[in-house]
Amino acid sequence: MPHDLPKAYDPAAIEDHWAEYWVREKLFAQPTPTAADTAGQAGQAGQAGQGESFTMLLPPPNVTGNLHMGHMFEHAESDIMVRWRRMCGDRVLWVPGTDHAGIATQMLVERQLTTEGKSRQQLGRAAFVERVWEWRRHYGGAILGQMKRLGASVDWQREYFTMDERLSVAVREAFVRLHEQNLIYRGAYIVNWCPRCQTAISDLEVFHEEQKGHLWEIRYPVVSKSGKDTGEFLTVATTRPETMLGDVAVAIHPEDERYLHLHGKKLRLPLMDREIPIILDEWVSRDFGTGAVKVTPAHDPNDFALGERHNLPSINIMDVEGRINADGGSYTGLDRYAARKKIVADLEELGLLAGIKDHVNNVGHCDRCKTTVEPRLSTQWFIKIQPLAEKAIAAVKPDAQGNKAIRIVPEQYEKVYLEWMENIHDWCISRQLWWGHRIPAWHCANCHQMTVAREDPTACAHCGSDKITQETDVLDTWFSSGLLPVSVFGWPHITEKNRGDFDAFYPTSLLVTGFDILFFWVARMIMFGCWFSGDVPMPDGSPRSLADSVPFREVYIHALVRDANREKMSKTKGNVVDPIEIVKQYGTDAVRFTLASMASPGTDIAFNVARTEGYRAFANKIWNAARLLFMNVDRAAEIGITVDPAALGGMPTVANDAPLEARWIVAEIHATAAKVNQSLENFRFDDAANTIYQFFWGSFCDWYLEIVKLRLDFSEDADKAQTKAALTTLVSVFEASLRLLSPIMPFITEELWHAVYDGNPPAKSIALAGYPMGDEHLDHAALVDMGALQSLIVEIRALRKEIGVEEKASTPIEVRIDAGMRSVLNENSTIVERLARVSELRIVDQITAGLSKHSTFSFDVAVIYERTVDIAAERERLTKDIAKYEKGLMSAERQLGNESFLEKAPAKIVEGLKKQEAEMRMLLEKALAALENLNKGS
Ligand SMILES: [Zn+2]
Ligand SMILES: [Zn+2]
Repeated sequence: MPHDLPKAYDPAAIEDHWAEYWVREKLFAQPTPTAADTAGQAGQAGQAGQGESFTMLLPPPNVTGNLHMGHMFEHAESDIMVRWRRMCGDRVLWVPGTDHAGIATQMLVERQLTTEGKSRQQLGRAAFVERVWEWRRHYGGAILGQMKRLGASVDWQREYFTMDERLSVAVREAFVRLHEQNLIYRGAYIVNWCPRCQTAISDLEVFHEEQKGHLWEIRYPVVSKSGKDTGEFLTVATTRPETMLGDVAVAIHPEDERYLHLHGKKLRLPLMDREIPIILDEWVSRDFGTGAVKVTPAHDPNDFALGERHNLPSINIMDVEGRINADGGSYTGLDRYAARKKIVADLEELGLLAGIKDHVNNVGHCDRCKTTVEPRLSTQWFIKIQPLAEKAIAAVKPDAQGNKAIRIVPEQYEKVYLEWMENIHDWCISRQLWWGHRIPAWHCANCHQMTVAREDPTACAHCGSDKITQETDVLDTWFSSGLLPVSVFGWPHITEKNRGDFDAFYPTSLLVTGFDILFFWVARMIMFGCWFSGDVPMPDGSPRSLADSVPFREVYIHALVRDANREKMSKTKGNVVDPIEIVKQYGTDAVRFTLASMASPGTDIAFNVARTEGYRAFANKIWNAARLLFMNVDRAAEIGITVDPAALGGMPTVANDAPLEARWIVAEIHATAAKVNQSLENFRFDDAANTIYQFFWGSFCDWYLEIVKLRLDFSEDADKAQTKAALTTLVSVFEASLRLLSPIMPFITEELWHAVYDGNPPAKSIALAGYPMGDEHLDHAALVDMGALQSLIVEIRALRKEIGVEEKASTPIEVRIDAGMRSVLNENSTIVERLARVSELRIVDQITAGLSKHSTFSFDVAVIYERTVDIAAERERLTKDIAKYEKGLMSAERQLGNESFLEKAPAKIVEGLKKQEAEMRMLLEKALAALENLNKGS
């Protein structure tokens, strides 16, 4: 039978089906346009893919990742934008992919090896890298599989992996080009070194945690010019005594009066028996510790700067695993913490330990493996970032006309971005890993020069020697992901023949991402995008301006998803909400709607399952509305009435002389659609969701469906034209509502939309149908008139409740109404009669005295009801209620009046009490009024 929907809405059943259908049918594939396509006609709603390009890149999740709530939120917002633009007629492309995630993936595979009793060193580099690829082939697709199930409307034909051949070519070209431009150099630099991962990690990958530690005070003997101890000591304080093995000086403030006599003197470094100078530097704080600072340039960034200023040598005393190396005297071979212990003991024995104080340290840890990071001097590769940063600043700063090549939303992040970019340091791009893009540089053992090349060289470019070996470092993962906007569309090989993608999709339109990768990724894409795409001419051959070089025109920074108590979700706290579990319970649509409805820009989301439950009920309501609608469609068909398919698919229209509710619901959906489009334009996902919710649940289900039943007469002597018109409005508004909701709830709308068309829809998917574009000023009169009727019905319903009219009883009413509204009421009396259970509508000049009435600006209304209640019993009930309410009110007031209670009580409890107080007062007043009424009447 047509339109045969299962009785109960079961998201699991429909979602799996459609998710699989969308992928199988390649519905969201966006082929490379031809030149004629890109010359482009304006978009036409309903013909998805014919209009302007709307391109987005999915922030690539780590290949090791599993979908968490943050992803789900990001994907929901992105998918809403993408589905909306697609339905608006744009040529939409959303590109998915995964990131090879250097450190994370290498660590994961290393752990696997450990359980097998092996190490990567045993395997060797080539075998280890092969092992990682193998891991990736088996497990790397997990997160994309989850995305498929959740219906992300990406183009799966264009899925990339940052280690793919074609993207690796781009990485290599970018490196070589920057090298040719003298923007890449090697240098000794203090880096954050993770002894476990055995690589440098960026400042952004270090998290700091306060830790209880000590401040050791150590006496350094002052020596005379001839190298003899003078018997005097200079005391320094340190939190890492083992680093003293690498000390090259002690610094004091030049004006520190305590030490004026030591200017120009030398010290003997204990344990190492090395003479080191006392240097003067204004950077030293006189108030911290003893005012004398040991200088270890190879193991502290501040000391490194001091060392540079004073031309001091750097002595690195630690190896890659955090053990003391050959420069550490008798401590060589000890782990850093074992060395610390022994050094402290030895100093004590020598009488050189002046004291130990408790001290809270802010200690850096490796974000990946939690190991304490060691600042360590090492040779690294850098990008001279200044010229790239300049372009990246110009891309975001408004120009003289106030135009911005990239708009960052919410605007507050523009300042954050610019501040960071204006104070940017050279970017350390090398990592001492095996998994990643190996740096294309070859060291020559003969002339010690370096060959950087696009193709693997067989000989040194400088001396021709074949004794060359490739650099062992790989590039920072963000180097390759920073190139994505250009590399996924074919850069660097953009030729006349293959430039279709680049011309059509670059710059991308929008990036939806989180604040946490604003610097890591967003900033680097802007730097690289502006730098490298600048060389690619425009389709017409003209040079590319900065505005067309940017990787995206807009960045929307989304909020964070927190738990229901606004706490950050974390595994340690155990408050992580697993999106897959919630989806299993309530369906993807309900979870998406929850996230959208709470997503106002700049405000974090307190994810509350109760709301998801509510939106599950919303989906259910829509389901039931569809069933009711199909039941009527089928009954109409039995007497030969059908809806003309031409009435569906666009914006519903209605005859001028149609009944009020038809004109009204059509005007409503127009106004709703206009508002939703505007909200989405401004990234107000919350407004869009809530507007649709109110329309669907309130206007359509609660009002319109109730009223339209009056017009759907399927009897033999029915006015068939009237029934057909009503049915057409009903179905066309419902069909348009489904399209309106589809970007937020793609699954249920897909299912019902196919049912509306009885399995023969005009397109393969609702996602390819046109998005409703409403006229917000359509039929304002209908909105006003219907609004008046609605408020009348609401007041009658309230009155009935107050005076205790039995649910099913119909009663006469008296209405005093403005002359202007009188005819509206007369013409639509059947609506009021049906929706407010009115047996007789008496329009009067004045409400009969003694009747309890409700008054509004434009009418007074009274319900005439002969009570059949037992007055004595009713009085007793009300008296009891009044006593109960009084007690509740007093208790709330007492607590709210108690200052010391208020100080201690959580805000939630106080809020609850205030609510209780207001509620009790309202109930009490109502009960008192009812009792008074009762007494009057008897
Ligand atoms: Zn680590
Ligand atoms: Zn050479």
